[in-house]
Amino acid sequence: MEPLVKIDQQKCTTCYTCLRVCPVKAVKINESNKHPEISVKRCIGCGDCITSCYPGAISYRSDIENAKELLQSGQDIAFICSPSISAEFNDITDYRKFVSMLRSLGAKYVNEVSFAVDIIAYKYLHLFNDFKGKYYITTYDPVVVSYIEKYHPNLISNLAPMVSPMIACAMIMHKIYGENIKIIYIGPEIARKEEALRHKGDAKIDVVLTFLELRQLFEEYSLDESTIEFSDFDPPIGYKGSLYPLANGIIQAADMDENRLTSDIITIEGRKPMLESIQEFENNVKTIHRHLNVTYGNSLYGPGLTKHGNKLLKEHLVIEYANKRLNNFFRHEWYNNLQSYMELDFSCSFKNDDQRLPEPQHEKVLEILDLLNRNEDDVLGCDQCGYESCKAFAEDIARGLATPEMCSSYAFRSSMNFEESLKHLNEKLSQTRKALKESEENAKKERTAAKQASDFTNAMLEKLRAGVVIYDFQMKVLQSNTAFINILGEEAKEINEVIPGLAGADLKRLLSPGIMNLFTYVLTEGENIESRDIMLGEIMLNISVFPIVKNRVAGAIIRDMRAPEVQKAEAIKRISEVIDKNLEMVQKIGFLMGEGASDIEKMLNSIIKFYNEGNGTGK
Ligand code: SF4
Ligand code: SF4
Ligand code: SF4
Repeated sequence: MEPLVKIDQQKCTTCYTCLRVCPVKAVKINESNKHPEISVKRCIGCGDCITSCYPGAISYRSDIENAKELLQSGQDIAFICSPSISAEFNDITDYRKFVSMLRSLGAKYVNEVSFAVDIIAYKYLHLFNDFKGKYYITTYDPVVVSYIEKYHPNLISNLAPMVSPMIACAMIMHKIYGENIKIIYIGPEIARKEEALRHKGDAKIDVVLTFLELRQLFEEYSLDESTIEFSDFDPPIGYKGSLYPLANGIIQAADMDENRLTSDIITIEGRKPMLESIQEFENNVKTIHRHLNVTYGNSLYGPGLTKHGNKLLKEHLVIEYANKRLNNFFRHEWYNNLQSYMELDFSCSFKNDDQRLPEPQHEKVLEILDLLNRNEDDVLGCDQCGYESCKAFAEDIARGLATPEMCSSYAFRSSMNFEESLKHLNEKLSQTRKALKESEENAKKERTAAKQASDFTNAMLEKLRAGVVIYDFQMKVLQSNTAFINILGEEAKEINEVIPGLAGADLKRLLSPGIMNLFTYVLTEGENIESRDIMLGEIMLNISVFPIVKNRVAGAIIRDMRAPEVQKAEAIKRISEVIDKNLEMVQKIGFLMGEGASDIEKMLNSIIKFYNEGNGTGK
């Protein structure tokens, strides 16, 4: 069986109004998803959460399908209607049209609960008149009964031991129409659905429909009063029980004394008065010396009614209806019926369903008050959280029944703090973004500069006719130019096609051990080796090696002595060296030989000139 009241989390906007309005704190927040949840055990079925949930996320269990199934089953059905129909169906011009519409739905009998109201009212009268020192609380409102069973179990024995008029009416129907008759109750309160289940053993109400559900049925069956003739309720007809929707209707039904000077019955109506009066009754009944006629007030305003009209209008409609009913009233017949059905056993008992929670630890409450920025002496609260004081609110937070967010000032402060931290966060975020952008731009510039430098170096290396190689401590090539690759020969050229510049190639495989010794020496000792002639296969190379980072990186300039430009430069260099060396000697000889020495100098200079003009290149 579905719970009476449930929340559709998809529609819920987590406004927590339902937590604030629930009179018994049956709604609490699910810690994991922060959505409200209803505790079936704690709920008393008042329906306040439903009427106050703006997005319509809370609903009550629908019985429309059950009603349709029953109506189509072909079984004998009796509708029993609360007299509150007068306040709901004022759009139907005559209540007898309303009765006909119910018959059109498939009902064999249509009865009004007001006769049962009369009976229960007289039962109360007898109970109160037969006073034996105990004061009672009337029990026709299932919300009040449930509230006492769950939250004031000490008062269970003060509940008038009588079934409600709905249950009494069902019992009378079974008496008249037999045990097999199927009964559909129509009324304004959703809590009657639970009440019917509770009494399914003694009253057998098959379906309970609210007025709103009945309207839906009328619509689905396309029932309109304009196409229907009058028809009256089936007997037994009630008398003043038609006033039942009014707070003191059941008292008036039995003409009980309501004069505050002489009566020992006090009528209480409405959510707050009910909660307070029951607490007071428990505390002070020995002094108050009054019976309580209490109703939560859902007969005219609950979630089972359409939201139209106001209190005075609805009460006026009830009174107008009661007067109309009296036009066809036969007192003698009513009285006989009353006598006859009064004999039925309408007594009942109530169960202790204690849902009270233990007092929370005082330190914990103080801690919560501190969090709320309130203190224990703040006895009066603003009521926004649904509690009469900040302390009572803090106590329920400690019990796990409420959450600090229900306090508007706490929620406001939290949202301010949240906004403040959000602002800081945003500022930090924008600073980080800016820094990130700047560093990205710098990195981009550095990358471009590095690329330009690298391109520049590569271009320069490529322009050099000498072979250049830069290598690391593993003797792997870091960078080399085309001239170097050409010097190494065909194998190196093939590698270059796959790995441009021979990057990563192992020099040990490409150069002779003699050259490798030079390379290793320079790398480890950090000293230059300049212009060393060395053979690589058939080729005479002139090699200079220099350290770049000691023990890590070194470079070499290698010249192929076969290259014409090298030959020419080398010849010039070496002839210059010969001239220099010989000049000294010539000068010395000049002293000895005179003019002949200058002829030798002229001859050598002419050789240099010959090479400089390109005639010695062999081209
Ligand atoms: S009243 Fe409750 S169920 Fe409805 S939207 Fe607000 S928190 Fe959600
Ligand atoms: S129906 Fe009433 S008691 Fe139940 S959860 Fe809603 S407000 Fe609370
Ligand atoms: S200040 Fe907060 S805790 Fe106190 S009554 Fe108001 S809403 Fe409730």
